[in-house]
Amino acid sequence: MIKAVGLFSGGLDSLLAIKLIQKQGIDVIAVAFRSPFFIANQEKKKKLEKTAKTHKFKIKFIELGTDYLNMVKKPKHGHGKNMNPCIDCHAFMLKKAKAYAKKIKAKFIFTGEVLNERPMSQNRGSLNIVEKEAGLKGKLLRPLSAKLLKETEAEKKAYVDRNKLLGLNGRSRKPQFALAKKFKIKKFETPGGGCVLTYEAYSNKLRDLFKHKKIPSLEDAKLLKTGRHFRKGKNKIIVGRNHEENKILAKQKGLKFEAKGVMGPTTLLTGKPTKKAIELAASLTARYSDAEEDKVAVKYNNKEIIVNKIKEEKIKKIRI
Ligand code: SF4
Repeated sequence: MIKAVGLFSGGLDSLLAIKLIQKQGIDVIAVAFRSPFFIANQEKKKKLEKTAKTHKFKIKFIELGTDYLNMVKKPKHGHGKNMNPCIDCHAFMLKKAKAYAKKIKAKFIFTGEVLNERPMSQNRGSLNIVEKEAGLKGKLLRPLSAKLLKETEAEKKAYVDRNKLLGLNGRSRKPQFALAKKFKIKKFETPGGGCVLTYEAYSNKLRDLFKHKKIPSLEDAKLLKTGRHFRKGKNKIIVGRNHEENKILAKQKGLKFEAKGVMGPTTLLTGKPTKKAIELAASLTARYSDAEEDKVAVKYNNKEIIVNKIKEEKIKKIRI
């Protein structure tokens, strides 16, 4: 049986591409990439596993490392609207998929990309760049738009029947939804597993991280999803928004703050704990606590400080 590797984000397009290839009697092994930016938690991973089980294909998760993070910092082809480096990201994933396909002796690789569905990253020029950068020129099959693209090696060698592939083009998702109905696909994820690199708020925090930390880690990128973030010079302050976030922050390196005698957040202060930074972190802790008075006692490191709640105008200036 012919084996093929398909990139799988959990989204409808990649699932439809898998179904089309499966229909041709090909053994599909879906590759899903995980990072702090997408398919990050176990819940999302499980959803993808469930989809694979429902639609009877194997799934392989590949964890992306700091090399991916470095690419996000400085992508050769630039960022999209936010910090999403979609062209470089696709090429990066395809390179990894190529190595995996070689390892398992798969005959070809395919994706669920649709020509012109995303004006910046899925136009003909971008598709060609991605293919070239990944070292897959003429070898990457896009089953959903294949009829509008040049014949690939998999079609020339008759691993797949080009006539049974599609010629989708453009932003309308109607044909995909019709196809989903035909294939009895009821559940699917948002494309890219809800990639946070496309979110403005997350991108602002990531830019701040890249600016202030020379060698950021994956853990740093992960922590950007936890709490409210504030920047004052070299100090970074993160204030938890709920119990789960407070627990995460309590485990981090740095000074931790909590309001005394009232419910409230755990606050993390990183960078040199100067007197001013401590006062600022304490006043933020006070502001987000349940304390009714303006003056609040805040504990940190077996010490106590009494501060006024920070004013809203000041919050606006330091919130990332
Ligand atoms: S949306 Fe995110 S996961 Fe998808 S290609 Fe762009 S950067 Fe990569």
